[in-house]
Amino acid sequence: MKTSSFHIVPLPTEIADSARRVVNAGAADHALITVDSPGSSPCRHCLRWAQPGERVILFPYAAIPSGHPYSETGPIFVHANECQRYSATDEYPGAFRNGRVFRAYDSRYNIIDAEVLNASELEAVIERLFQNPDTAFVDARSVTHGCFTFRVERA
Ligand SMILES: [Zn+2]
Repeated sequence: MKTSSFHIVPLPTEIADSARRVVNAGAADHALITVDSPGSSPCRHCLRWAQPGERVILFPYAAIPSGHPYSETGPIFVHANECQRYSATDEYPGAFRNGRVFRAYDSRYNIIDAEVLNASELEAVIERLFQNPDTAFVDARSVTHGCFTFRVERA
């Protein structure tokens, strides 16, 4: 379903490319992994689940920058090989209709609301979070692992 009220912000390509350089340099906090089960490793750049046999990089990402009470750095995956950044930014990514929690933040990076959604009501609840004028952005995270998946901003 297309939406006019918000857009999806996948991980910037510079960050995915940087992780690919850093893992090749052997950094201890960047792990190169060959995926062995589907539905285990979501790529934050193309917003697809990596398929068995594909290689991914696991590394820490500061979704909420340091210097704030809600600062948060956590593990994310990107494909080890170049992939195309998710471009259908006016559509909720179909790969993540289940298993996400949505956290609304204000412009000072404070969490002001949070919702666990059913697949059928995703768009409506994201729109409701943005009806609060204090909501600056909404982050989608894994409901089980807590990991940052993608950001949602006002259109
Ligand atoms: Zn990817």
